[in-house]
Amino acid sequence: MTRRCKYFAPSELVPKSVYERYADKEEIYALFEDDALRVLDWIRDVIGAPVVVNNWKSGGVLQNRGYRTIDSPVGAKRSAHKPNVATGKACAFDLSSPAMSAAQIRAAIEANKTSLPCKIRLEDGRDAPTWVHFDTRTAPLQKDMIYVFRA
Ligand SMILES: [Zn+2]
Repeated sequence: MTRRCKYFAPSELVPKSVYERYADKEEIYALFEDDALRVLDWIRDVIGAPVVVNNWKSGGVLQNRGYRTIDSPVGAKRSAHKPNVATGKACAFDLSSPAMSAAQIRAAIEANKTSLPCKIRLEDGRDAPTWVHFDTRTAPLQKDMIYVFRA
């Protein structure tokens, strides 16, 4: 399988327990909607700075900001971080950057939205003050490239 993310290793996208289940780590990319992976790389390109999803592999505490198992107690029960019932795939990421604030990242996404690979939802900054949540679980009738929602 060819690498599905330009900037992100499989270990950055899933918790340690999920990572360890896979002999072939490249298969981890298939846990996500392709569009969600494209948007993740796109954000890294747009801000031109490091993007952190999970960092457990390098000694950090973050491991639930990408894929969450269906029984994960973290976040909402039907979160887009969890596999969708219909597709079996997750389509959400929480991210941050050591180079800029979450508000600055959201502003950069907004400023460049015409080149987004697909429509996305962004969590309102009042609910996600120190991170940026995006997902590709868009409503069919969503007209704008970005739909901002409150948790
Ligand atoms: Zn999230």
